[in-house]
Amino acid sequence: MLVGNGILITMEDDNRFFPDGAVLVEGEVVKEVGTTGDLRARHPEEPFLDARGMLILPGLVTGHTHLYGHWARGIPGRGEPAANFRQILERLWWRLDRALTPEDNYHQSLAALLEAVRHGVTTLFDHHASPCSCPGSLDRVAAAFTEVGLRGCLCYEVSDRDGPAIARQGLEENRRFAERCRREGGSLLRAAFGLHASFTVGEETLRLAAEIGHGLGVGFHVHVAEGEADVAETLRMCGKHPVRRLAEAGVLGEKSIAAHCVLVGPEEIRILWESGCTVAHNPVSNMNNAVGISPVPDLLEAGVNVVLGGDGFLDLWREMNLAAMGARLARRDPRAMGGEEVRGITWVNNARLARRYWDRPLGQITEGGYADLILLDYRPPTPLDRANYMGHLIYGVAGAAVDTVMVGGRLIMRGRSFQTVDEEAVLARSRELARSLWERY
Ligand SMILES: [Zn+2]
Repeated sequence: MLVGNGILITMEDDNRFFPDGAVLVEGEVVKEVGTTGDLRARHPEEPFLDARGMLILPGLVTGHTHLYGHWARGIPGRGEPAANFRQILERLWWRLDRALTPEDNYHQSLAALLEAVRHGVTTLFDHHASPCSCPGSLDRVAAAFTEVGLRGCLCYEVSDRDGPAIARQGLEENRRFAERCRREGGSLLRAAFGLHASFTVGEETLRLAAEIGHGLGVGFHVHVAEGEADVAETLRMCGKHPVRRLAEAGVLGEKSIAAHCVLVGPEEIRILWESGCTVAHNPVSNMNNAVGISPVPDLLEAGVNVVLGGDGFLDLWREMNLAAMGARLARRDPRAMGGEEVRGITWVNNARLARRYWDRPLGQITEGGYADLILLDYRPPTPLDRANYMGHLIYGVAGAAVDTVMVGGRLIMRGRSFQTVDEEAVLARSRELARSLWERY
């Protein structure tokens, strides 16, 4: 299939911009990238998907999310409003996750993935928790990914907060799912090893996680220095900052994701860089929880692979915008996070992270890479060209513009209509189960 007649931006490290570009897709892979005229002339028999002047971009990759939190939207509050990060965890998240059933894990993931598609997100690094339904939970999340047709790197967030038996189940669930992925292969699903955060993982659990994860050859996905509680309680536990503790335990390697890193200074930034791990930045979540903002410009200057995530929020266009605004506000410098830095944490670095898990490039449109494309129906009010397109993407383009989504050459959404699932049925069931969850939690 030839997808063409659109403004094509490949978002490769060395970006290519075609005012009238086309992508030749063969099977699940991008075969050629070029101008519409040239590719149509050389492949006249190929079925043509006409982008009609829309933007053609790679599908977005979110470096950190929690599909299990999707039903928190609009949830009735209980008791006094949480006054700090620890109370947010205790009063909302750690009650909500304990109430999740196996059925919830599947249906909530389905509903969340539909929202991801609507925002042009095609690959998600998910961090799952459902302590009372842990065994097999990742299979239920994975079933939603394969049904919708998106790529996911899944893990279970191991924690000692619900006692040793559930911590053991979490360790086992990560091991089991990683072995399943290795056995089955395929191009949609991958596994990481999940840990909640340093302050809820004791020494023995951390040691076991590191041992099992290294044995499997997977990376770790863990919250790091998101709020004061993580730093203060880890310091009390072992006299170390969470970054140092996790690095010394061997869980911050090249394939690992350290989510947030809000409370890090020069010493921690140096350790993060040395470890080669990825830092996932989640500005909307950080603002919502009032925990502060990660020093992303400092991390980038130090050479750390910072990627955009959403921590449960799936609109990466808003994350992109607020990553720029947040950095400028924090530094009180309007030059912080220019277009190229924003492009780096949204496409270049996310693609680099994905490449550590998948056998072909994705998150960028490149010959030999997976054909994960999105078409955006965006009519610019000012000229859009190779010099200023990031201005349009940061300030003008929103998730609502996503018209068509393709993953591995397969159309997931076309003309805003889902091709793989019945959206109305999924959302109706989602509302029903969410109401029942709210009553139980
Ligand atoms: Zn998170």
